[in-house]
Amino acid sequence: MNYLIKNAEAIAGQPTACDIRIQNGIISEIGNELKSQSDEQLIDASSCVIYPGFVNTHHHLAQSALKGIPAGLNQGLGEWLASVPYTYWPHFTPELMYDAALIGLSEQLRSGVTTCADHHYLYHANTTPELEDALWQAADDLGVRLVLCRGGATVQGTHKGMLKNNIVPESIDLAIQRIDNSRQKYHQQHCNAMRRVVVSPTTIVHSCQPDDLKTYAEYARSHQLKLHSHLLEVDFDETQAQQKYGMSAVEYAHSVNWLGEDVWFAHIVQATEKDIKILGETKTGIAHCPTSNCRLGSGIAPVLAMEKAGMTVSIGVDGSASSESGSMLQEVNLSWLIHRSQFGATATNLEQCLKWSTKNGAKILGIESIGEIKIGQAADLVLYNLDHYRYHGMHERLYAPILGGEPALIKTSLVNGRILVENGQITQLDETALKYRFIQNLAKLKQKITA
Ligand SMILES: [Zn+2]
Repeated sequence: MNYLIKNAEAIAGQPTACDIRIQNGIISEIGNELKSQSDEQLIDASSCVIYPGFVNTHHHLAQSALKGIPAGLNQGLGEWLASVPYTYWPHFTPELMYDAALIGLSEQLRSGVTTCADHHYLYHANTTPELEDALWQAADDLGVRLVLCRGGATVQGTHKGMLKNNIVPESIDLAIQRIDNSRQKYHQQHCNAMRRVVVSPTTIVHSCQPDDLKTYAEYARSHQLKLHSHLLEVDFDETQAQQKYGMSAVEYAHSVNWLGEDVWFAHIVQATEKDIKILGETKTGIAHCPTSNCRLGSGIAPVLAMEKAGMTVSIGVDGSASSESGSMLQEVNLSWLIHRSQFGATATNLEQCLKWSTKNGAKILGIESIGEIKIGQAADLVLYNLDHYRYHGMHERLYAPILGGEPALIKTSLVNGRILVENGQITQLDETALKYRFIQNLAKLKQKITA
């Protein structure tokens, strides 16, 4: 389907235009008073502002089934990991995973996301491929771009969650073999990929031996795959790296070939000036997840210094078990606010936060067709409706969605020129069927935990 989007109040990155033409999924024309052609459908964007779809660079879709677990409500990262995700995920069925992914991706869509990088770590020695297949299926059914950051551990190590729940890790050979199966089945290398695979052991300090990390990096680079992991969310990574390897966590990452433009880490809250210098010089990226960092009391990532040092800053929601709103718009809003609380009212600006959540996310994932509204780019667009009492008194218009935060009022959302949200409704989601199925699957999960 071809579309002509007409009469927007404002378009991000296109200050003089109000119309966008989409042909075969690609933005073909941007301007004013564009004339409708016979083969295209008109989308009225009056009272709307248009952004490129948000690119969420760090999520855990499985956690859509693990929100607000009472045992983890007031815990820091280590205890929370042991009592929430690692207690539950070994009992996930493909059916539950599919529903959790549908919910998580729907939450992404309704908060302005069109591309989601999911850090999926539900792998152990006896994993079957169906759990992962369920994720790909959910993304395919909704039409969202999915980057599967393939997690897991090759050692049990000192990870409280692995130890407490007796999770048997994969061997490095088995992990590589399984990643390669996924790569061959799902990965698209071309610049307009709907599906990508990223090599992503759950944490580099606790999930692997140094040689495993080198093997992962070599494998990934030989197939042009990116690398991703958690790093320095809390200072436990630092103390363990010092104790086990006699160097800082960032120096350790460097020593096992895990820094560079093709690597990004979630969190990096506890980075020192020296760390930031190394990360900047190597042009390593970060997925900044401020809500989760607040929720678990981890701190505030020094992303302003990181950006200045040369790192690429992007934004992630993290899982809904530690970021219960599941909202990317909340992350962008909080990214704008939180650094001002530390460094004053000029610390961040709205344009910068939009760039972090769109163009920079696309750069980190290496999907060149998305992240900006330009001729020749894929039509991954979100129309925010400002015709509502919440916005009538809002004088700044282009950045009104970020300033206003949740709830987002999305009129239309497109991925690759296909409509995925229409008048706030997700076109491919049967909410009633999902609700009944999910409640049943969740009840089975709870039974297994209490058994
Ligand atoms: Zn995470």
